[in-house]
Amino acid sequence: MSEKKDHLAPTQKREKPTIVEPPPGTMGTGFFTTSMDKAIGLARKNSLWPLPFATSCCGIEFMSTMSSHYDLSRFGMERLSFSPRQSDLLMVMGTIAKKMGPVLREVYTQMAEPKWVLSMGACASSGGIFDSYSVLQGIDRVIPVDVYIPGCPPRPEQVIDGILKIQELAQNESLRRRYSKEYEDLLTKYKID
Ligand code: SF4
Repeated sequence: MSEKKDHLAPTQKREKPTIVEPPPGTMGTGFFTTSMDKAIGLARKNSLWPLPFATSCCGIEFMSTMSSHYDLSRFGMERLSFSPRQSDLLMVMGTIAKKMGPVLREVYTQMAEPKWVLSMGACASSGGIFDSYSVLQGIDRVIPVDVYIPGCPPRPEQVIDGILKIQELAQNESLRRRYSKEYEDLLTKYKID
């Protein structure tokens, strides 16, 4: 029987894989302390549940991002949620018709806080090439957006880059941001209670 070969050079040591970096804190033998917001930020960052609101070709590109080749499970988000109440990342992908605007808004308002919005591709972000009477010229006309991904369609690497930006927001956001006046004003601007 042939032995399984290790491709490391004899002088190289195999390092233990790190699943996620620990947040800043104090570490000793058998204990680790950090602050509450950092622990919650870490958990939020690595357990985002996306709701794919896909209407056209960008949604197909997202399917390839979900596939094993790119593997979104690495980011703790292999569980797509088709229920707004069990998701915290709204991913809007594709051309959004004006008639679809209120539906998108309804989905957004049904999601519990904290929630984030990722606009994938030119159509969702700006209407794209469809500068017509029937197409919404950007989803930020109906809901607030946290991260935009450019492209028509964006490559999976760009989608992953956008997701990493959302993770950064989720990890570093103050626990009180959702109660802040700034956030309240933002929702008031969109006439969302
Ligand atoms: S941005 Fe391009 S690929 Fe994405 S939905 Fe619009 S036309 Fe399709």
